[in-house]
Amino acid sequence: RGLKKYFDVTGGVFSKKVGEVKAVDDVSFTVKEGEVLGIVGESGCGKSTTGKALLRLIEPTAGSVFFKGQDITLLSDEEMRKTRRDMQIIFQDPYASLNPRHKIAKILSEPLIVHGIGDSKERMKIVKEILEIVGLPGDNAAKYPHQFSGGQRQRIGIARALIVNPKLVICDEPVSALDVSIQSQILNLMEDLKDKFGLTYVFIAHDLSVVKHISDRVGVMYLGRMVELTENESLYGEPLHPYTRSLLSAVPDPDPDRKQERVILKGDVPSPSNPPNGCAFHTRCPDCMDICKEVRPSFNEVLVNHFVACHLYEEDGKPVPPEQFKATK
Ligand code: SF4
Ligand code: MG
Repeated sequence: RGLKKYFDVTGGVFSKKVGEVKAVDDVSFTVKEGEVLGIVGESGCGKSTTGKALLRLIEPTAGSVFFKGQDITLLSDEEMRKTRRDMQIIFQDPYASLNPRHKIAKILSEPLIVHGIGDSKERMKIVKEILEIVGLPGDNAAKYPHQFSGGQRQRIGIARALIVNPKLVICDEPVSALDVSIQSQILNLMEDLKDKFGLTYVFIAHDLSVVKHISDRVGVMYLGRMVELTENESLYGEPLHPYTRSLLSAVPDPDPDRKQERVILKGDVPSPSNPPNGCAFHTRCPDCMDICKEVRPSFNEVLVNHFVACHLYEEDGKPVPPEQFKATK
């Protein structure tokens, strides 16, 4: 609720604070047990920072994170360590996230040791089991990370996250660093594991096509803000935010009967250290109105379970359903 993460920007010989980057700027959403919530946006939009702040791997500047009803931003380090058994993360770059000097057995037993699970013999058994579960023979435990391909390393990254039997897994672009041919194998594996262990995923990606099949709901972020959040079918079928529309129009649609208008965005993403006033998207938005340059739109539920932050669907600060907007335009 109201999650913010601001980073100081320092400069000069004395490294004085000269500004701040609002990496995550007042973001609120809910993740339902058992669902896959996709979070999508271009690089620098704050999606990874949001994911890490959910686990307090990055401390939020403001806001709350409720896990099973409890605000975990209030927990002590020791309490947080225990809670993290239920909340794990899979990183984007499987190579950078595995210590090259450690054998897989050591890498995978570390989380077990941290959470006091089993003696060394039991831990070895669990390590071999989890390797088999992610599709690697158990005897791989004796190898080093460099002996595996990118896809295999991401299987190990997944094994490390799942070995403590978590409830929630933050997947921070887990397939972005992989060859396209390997991506779908890993996505399928992650879907199978989700069903098998009853997991909940927050699945972060920079591309709407990656989360299309795996997500139940999708949130779209732009410059530190959530601009649209809804169920999968509505997001892909009836996107409301002009930014989502532009992202979707860049994804080729195989259905020849569906007319696709290509929306070409002007300009680049503005610097997050100096975001535009009002709606952060107004410098690139094809529908920009005067109010957009001054007033930040609030994040409203304009249709059932369909949230959007855009003045097109707002009048006098109140949400206006899209049909009504179309009728008046
Ligand atoms: Fe475009 Fe205005 Fe909506 Fe922002 S608020 S997305 S500038 S129409
Ligand atoms: Mg990232």
